[in-house]
Amino acid sequence: MEKIKMTTPLVEMDGDEMTRIIWQEIKDELILPFVDLKTEYYDLGLQNRDATNDKVTVDSANATKKYGVAVKCATITPNKQRMSEYNLKEMWKSPNGTIRAILDGTVFRAPITLPIIKPAVKTWEAPITIARHAYGDVYKATEMRFPKGKAELVFTDENGVETRETVYEFECDGVLQGQYNKDSSIKSFARSCFNYAVAQKQSLWFSTKDTISKKYDQTFKLIFEEIYENEYKAKFEELGIEYFYTLIDDAVARVIRSKGGFIWALKNYDGDVMSDMVSTAFGSLAMMTSVLVSPDGNFEYEAAHGTVTRHYYKYLKGEKTSTNPMATIYAWSGALRKRGELDNLTDLVDFADKLEKACIDTLMSGVMTKDLTSLTDGSVEVKPVLTSEFIKEIRNNLEKAL
Ligand code: NAP
Ligand code: MG
Repeated sequence: MEKIKMTTPLVEMDGDEMTRIIWQEIKDELILPFVDLKTEYYDLGLQNRDATNDKVTVDSANATKKYGVAVKCATITPNKQRMSEYNLKEMWKSPNGTIRAILDGTVFRAPITLPIIKPAVKTWEAPITIARHAYGDVYKATEMRFPKGKAELVFTDENGVETRETVYEFECDGVLQGQYNKDSSIKSFARSCFNYAVAQKQSLWFSTKDTISKKYDQTFKLIFEEIYENEYKAKFEELGIEYFYTLIDDAVARVIRSKGGFIWALKNYDGDVMSDMVSTAFGSLAMMTSVLVSPDGNFEYEAAHGTVTRHYYKYLKGEKTSTNPMATIYAWSGALRKRGELDNLTDLVDFADKLEKACIDTLMSGVMTKDLTSLTDGSVEVKPVLTSEFIKEIRNNLEKAL
């Protein structure tokens, strides 16, 4: 078979530990034999981030802005213990944080679902995608703890004019927090969500607590409303999808009673919490895909899980592991499909579809990694396998399909 041609390179961001091992296996078995792969390679493994003073992370994000599509392996976010384990010069920041700050985007997380793995919520028939605003709020807050006294919110404008409001007169020890967000970031969050809904042809839900937070959350609500009315309403109506705003508590109740099949946009903290709830209810973190979409149309695909350290330490001892490569394979298929769509390469889009189908066929035949075996509904005979056996079986199914 002649290999499928590419015209523009993908930005390839390599990573750490078990996922780095799986990364290479996926390329060798499932991509390179079939695709004349063009990538611009950036090694975001912790050793190389340290060697380049983290310049490689910034370079990879800028390359994503240049080419439009990236695929990223999971990476270690260093903590104290990693400092000594890797003998680091500095406690480098989270690569995802650095990349998000440069691309300014929204993270969309969607579970890979299977008929033989039933969600914990019985009514869910289709995946729910979580769209998380990845900027500001509690993640950029200033906090204080102090003894009794008066807490005030002070804003000084460009001309030096102060506006003050008392937060609380403390009669005992207490805590205080200052949060912010920017209209520009909320606008790009809104546009990313509306664009994604149009691309997926799925309805968009958005929820905040605007009845209680009459300025902060209300701003999010109004910005979404205005952008929808002015820029997206006609397109939504044409596609037969809807934009639906409701209070967060009402949304939680409705999500649980829903059939799924929509995108749920959430503020930063709400999205952090709800994405773990939704992914666990659908089955496993190892089956959760993640894509960062920037307002100017750049895409970075990755798995939602980390580097699976516990499995890597076993691997280092020479043990073979049964780590699930699904979300990482889908990061590759998602990036190749997007590249194909942007460059009008129908063969490449078709390959991405067939690769995903080969994965699903493999799981539906009962061949799966150990994290999934206890989740199936008992309708197929389960054959637990090691990662490399699982990938080989996917390759067999892919070869049949091509
Ligand atoms: P993790 O790598 O997601 O793993 C947590 C546990 O979840 C694993 O020990 C494993 O459970 C299970 N798991 C996750 N992915 C799996 C897979 N593909 N197949 C089978 N089981 C899977 O999270 P972590 O251990 O908290 O973090 C490890 C490192 O990853 C950290 O250094 C962190 O900074 C980094 N991290 C990176 C990203 C990213 O790059 N996007 C995201 C999160 C974390 P069992 O041990 O029970 O088998
Ligand atoms: Mg979280």
